[in-house]
Amino acid sequence: MTQPPQDAAVRRAVKPVICYPVETLPQPDMALYDAARADLQKTGETLVPPRDARTFTVPAGHFFRITSVEGSQVGDLNLWHANDLSERFYSGKTRALHGTHITRGQQMWTAFPHLRPMATLTHDSLEWYGMDEFGGSVHDVIGTRCDPFTHNLLSGGQYHHCCHSNLTRALAHHLDIQLAEASTHVHDVLNVFMCTGFTRETGQYFMKASPVRPGDYLEFFAEIDLLGALSACPGGDCSSEHSSDMAACYPLLVETFAPKEGALDAWHAPKRNGYDQTHGV
Ligand SMILES: [Zn+2]
Repeated sequence: MTQPPQDAAVRRAVKPVICYPVETLPQPDMALYDAARADLQKTGETLVPPRDARTFTVPAGHFFRITSVEGSQVGDLNLWHANDLSERFYSGKTRALHGTHITRGQQMWTAFPHLRPMATLTHDSLEWYGMDEFGGSVHDVIGTRCDPFTHNLLSGGQYHHCCHSNLTRALAHHLDIQLAEASTHVHDVLNVFMCTGFTRETGQYFMKASPVRPGDYLEFFAEIDLLGALSACPGGDCSSEHSSDMAACYPLLVETFAPKEGALDAWHAPKRNGYDQTHGV
């Protein structure tokens, strides 16, 4: 243990500053998206079975929804550029820009060197939840994904239906590639419907029963051509544990929608990041 310095209280009292003020961040045109989403035509659907995952594709300029059906269930979402798996969702930078949880009007960003919005959240039926008395909120970009490696580290044993394995199997099947390769493309997720936060005392990641109920949905606008994979987490509503077959689990529905012809004529697909990548050389 170290001894606090004489001016410890003064040092602690320094006010925080926001790391990434978003005043200069280009904002999505929500009025345009709202107008487009008022008249959508459904183009397809995929039912994700409990403790398993499925892939889906969404063309740039279309929408997709993840809906709770049958019972409270959280989902682990991975997104890639449909034609370039190296351009994948960057959970950490999305968190740095938007905070620990995201909702309507915020965006999911892609990895370096692309760093551009890949999806905009256009509707969130759980937007009312806000932040609860424990500091918990929904749709976090702080958790990584439940995985068999951490499970083995903490509890031993081999469990094969963690979201990491579910996403790996689904991607391997979709691309007809080996599991070992698919596993390297699986990345930190958007925790759809999951209610999480950090404890004030120890800063530990916590989860609690998701407030999601059948009929609730989270809707996205695809800013680029997307390949998605969604796992119906073995944690179910994540009220007690994950990485086992103990929790009650339910399917999740993914639906894709096309806007009406001309509804998004004013929309421009986001460009890749403008940094020249010479890195000072
Ligand atoms: Zn999971």
